Amino acid sequence: MAIERTLSIIKPDAVKKGVIGAIIARFESEGLRIAAVRKVHLSLREAQGFYAVHSARGFFGELTEFMSSGPCVAIVLEGENAIAKNREIMGATNPANAAEGTLRKLYADSVGENAVHGSDAPETAAVEIAYFFRGTELH
Ligand code: ADP
Ligand code: MG
Repeated sequence: MAIERTLSIIKPDAVKKGVIGAIIARFESEGLRIAAVRKVHLSLREAQGFYAVHSARGFFGELTEFMSSGPCVAIVLEGENAIAKNREIMGATNPANAAEGTLRKLYADSVGENAVHGSDAPETAAVEIAYFFRGTELH
């Protein structure tokens, strides 16, 4: 298996709940290394840029307002199969469908406010990591 990097975001709802530490501890306990981490408060424009792929979706306004409503934590995770592994730890987009023990089952309240983001493929991971971090910030 290849060593990959992926972008995780602890979304504003989870930051407000005070579970930044719990989520980061979970990543580490699952064998994912923290290559970079930063707390950021996205502007509406920055949230729109990050989620541009979803701009035609009906939930785009709701999503980008939520993502710019408070600080979030951007994290680069590194490890074997990191992209799929992170998606597994996160659980399904809608917490109602998320498996027991996943981050979204544990911490998310709705399909919109669902605690964490995770890149879905190597190409999107590269673009998303570069949206938040310079190459020299990854260690
Ligand atoms: P994921 O984050 O699991 O990759 P998507 O890429 O499909 O899910 O959607 C991006 C984000 O948009 C979701 O995490 C969620 O915050 C929001 N979202 C997705 N579907 C809906 C929906 N039906 N209603 C409101 N928000 C949604
Ligand atoms: Mg997605």
